[in-house]
Amino acid sequence: MSIIKGISDKIRGKRQGHKDKTQLNSLSEATVYEALKSVVDPDLHKDIVSLGFVKKVEINGSIVNVTVQLTTPACPVKEELKKQCEDSILKIRGVNEVNVTLTFPSSSRPAQAAEKKNNGLVQVKNIIAVASGKGGVGKSTTAMNLARSLARTSAKVGVIDADIYGPSIPTLSQAGKPTQMDGELVIPPEVDGIKLISVSMFSQGDKAHILRGPMAANLVKQFLSGVAWGELDYLLIDYPPGTGDIQLTISQIASLAGAVIVTTPQELALADVKKAISMFTTMKVPIIGIIENMSYFICDGCEKKHYIFKTGGGKKLAKNSGLPLLGEIPIEPYIVKASDEGLDFDSEGSKLPESYKQVTDRVVRELAILNSNQGLGLNSFSLAWK
Ligand code: ADP
Repeated sequence: MSIIKGISDKIRGKRQGHKDKTQLNSLSEATVYEALKSVVDPDLHKDIVSLGFVKKVEINGSIVNVTVQLTTPACPVKEELKKQCEDSILKIRGVNEVNVTLTFPSSSRPAQAAEKKNNGLVQVKNIIAVASGKGGVGKSTTAMNLARSLARTSAKVGVIDADIYGPSIPTLSQAGKPTQMDGELVIPPEVDGIKLISVSMFSQGDKAHILRGPMAANLVKQFLSGVAWGELDYLLIDYPPGTGDIQLTISQIASLAGAVIVTTPQELALADVKKAISMFTTMKVPIIGIIENMSYFICDGCEKKHYIFKTGGGKKLAKNSGLPLLGEIPIEPYIVKASDEGLDFDSEGSKLPESYKQVTDRVVRELAILNSNQGLGLNSFSLAWK
């Protein structure tokens, strides 16, 4: 909550001058709502009053308290919107103090929770597939670092490692095994506030996972509904690479809010990405956009970008498929070290977080747009459970 107190006389003076000139209405709930109509969500292109974001307006003398509910705690423009709310209300005659409280929708849905108490997804808002056409493009690394980056925004995050035949999330996170149950639900281990589940948590040593397609899909089904995910803003699924039966089945059962496609810039990777895009389109899963991983390398000393795997592949694909390019992640030796050791990606001051942060912000924004175009993402869960 931000409390604007003790505004300097200078600023007050300026504000007063402005009011006298513009002759704004005197203070009432209606004038506050009217003022807030000037605050426009930059992604949804509508004002926050029309979007129904303004939940409460209280006037106490010259103090205005407003509660604004944004779509997600990961909203990258939340501070900017808050400031705009404060500024717009301060322009109203008679206002001396504004308190804007930002809230985020609770994903708790009591009626359904009671009805479906054995379904671990009951309080999960958005399930996102992180997929690639090809293996080795850095899909799991990107999924884990997206999760870390989202968790830093105070969003509640979980990851399902559905890469059944090559699970890497436990290595990337150093997560332990689940040791407890909550009724019929498995309690997932947590690393840096991220809940994680992977097939390798249930296997013995280095034994290969010999699972036929339907068994593998069934396992992912259990990861979705048989795990005590609790309240989550984002549940990421690290998909197996490719576009076979397993990927189709997961897309069918997961009630996905959207899919993020990871690629590298070479033609060979891009060809398979087109198949992944086509698969999600056929399954009517909205595609949030494309992340180009290993886009370039900046060597020590010269600060020049070296495009080792060609340049512009992701951009071209995004353009041709009409999808957003969510960002470019450089080749960074630290990523390999962090991945192999399960370290947080900027725990040693690497420059990389900025590129992940930019990609994460874009994912959040594009998903908010998709959700607003389709009603709330949660609607799909009630459909899935009928
Ligand atoms: P996938 O899930 O697509 O098979 P992984 O996430 O397992 O790929 O990554 C494959 C390898 O590439 C790992 O060793 C990982 O550390 C490395 N890697 C991924 N992204 C990057 C990057 N941006 N820079 C450097 N190494 C990367």
